[in-house]
Amino acid sequence: MITFEDLKKILITDYQDEDINTVIKAFHFASEAHRGQKRRTGEDYIYHCLATAYNLAQMKMDIPSITAGLLHDVPEDTDFSLDDVKNNFGKEVAELVAGVTKLGTLKYRGLERYAENLRKMFLAMSKDLRIIIIKLADRLHNMQTLEGVREEKRLRIAQETLEIYAPIANRLGMFEIKTRLEDLAFPYIYPSEYLWVSNLVKDRLKTETKYIDKIQHLAQKDLVKNNIHYLQIKGRVKSLFSIYQKLLHKGKDLNKVYDLIALRIIVPDVIDCYSVLGIIHKRWTPLKGRVKDYIAQPKPNGYRSLHTSVFTEFGKIAEIQIRSQAMDEEAEFGIAAHSRYKELKNIDSKKNPPTWVKHLLEIQKSITDNVEFIKHVKNDLFLNRIFVFTPKGDVIELPENATPLDFAFHIHTDIGNKCVGAKINEQMVSLNHALKSGDVVEILIDKNRKKPNPDWLNIVITTAAKDKIRNQLRK
Ligand code: MN
Repeated sequence: MITFEDLKKILITDYQDEDINTVIKAFHFASEAHRGQKRRTGEDYIYHCLATAYNLAQMKMDIPSITAGLLHDVPEDTDFSLDDVKNNFGKEVAELVAGVTKLGTLKYRGLERYAENLRKMFLAMSKDLRIIIIKLADRLHNMQTLEGVREEKRLRIAQETLEIYAPIANRLGMFEIKTRLEDLAFPYIYPSEYLWVSNLVKDRLKTETKYIDKIQHLAQKDLVKNNIHYLQIKGRVKSLFSIYQKLLHKGKDLNKVYDLIALRIIVPDVIDCYSVLGIIHKRWTPLKGRVKDYIAQPKPNGYRSLHTSVFTEFGKIAEIQIRSQAMDEEAEFGIAAHSRYKELKNIDSKKNPPTWVKHLLEIQKSITDNVEFIKHVKNDLFLNRIFVFTPKGDVIELPENATPLDFAFHIHTDIGNKCVGAKINEQMVSLNHALKSGDVVEILIDKNRKKPNPDWLNIVITTAAKDKIRNQLRK
């Protein structure tokens, strides 16, 4: 249970006094508004508000977000109105609370409800990304206390979490939150699989923990000997849900999951990451093909780190992950991470939401059929992203399996229409070739060409390219 003292403790290290006073005021306001209300767990309602605000403070969100976190259920569940919130805490906080409240009221079930949910999420995102982050903080606590909810409702909430909230957290780069949401939903949605995996892992975990402790000890000694300053070194257990997903790919053989526990080393700077990697490889031989430099080439979802698997003197393999403090914070909080969040605040998010949010908004407006809509969203939002380059070195973000045609139409409709060929890394490729992260893509055009080829509709995978081709063909 999170208390107000807990919240204050993290606020004091990161925020100004007058900001903390606003939060104190919001705490008193919310306590008064929710007085006498209890959750099904028996707790006073205010503890839910506190936990939400605490999650936001941990993500280092700004004061309006933390304030709105405390007040997020006030207009919906108490005698106080949105106007009361506005009069006491101003327009910015009131708009955040209103955004979260709107997300909370849903009428439909099943597919209809799912589509409706997604549409509301995108609309809110395009207004202010902070609304979604507050909603994620709220959902995280609801999942942690799901035991206290009616059984039928429990399943629905867990499903929503797995199908909507976790993918959105992932898209926002909030991998830690995504993982926590998935692990919390797992036992409710796949109860027997959950039991199977947790039993399978239990015994292995005991021996693995001892093993990783030994590896940690040895690595630590080497770092000290080489005068490498590290901030943290610890064993990190893979999440149950990702073990489950990995098992499905590895013929259900736990012995093929090498990274059940990984040793994670956090250092101050990027350059230190490579020094540590050198020291590790000097002591232990790396496995061929298992050294991954996600710093030079981040994963499609933006994840950065160095990964290596090494043979150790104990006749076993160990996976080691090395990253800087900034990478660690990014992996945890994604778009909300301190450094990135500054950027987010500086842009007027109404006028200038991230491109992918704008794109989702277009989809949400242009596709009224819910089945079609979900199909497109799954494709455009939940598929992994790749980052490719124009010949001039500009970065273009596309979904995994995008083709040179998707790239061409992404650059400009006219480039798409006139496209007659493509080069990837200076090699000619066919127009249905799947692009990979890091590819340099060059589109060859014929100036006299006016219309796209109707067959391209079967090649492109992005909604934007499909729409553009259809529009051109109609003309
Ligand atoms: Mn809530």
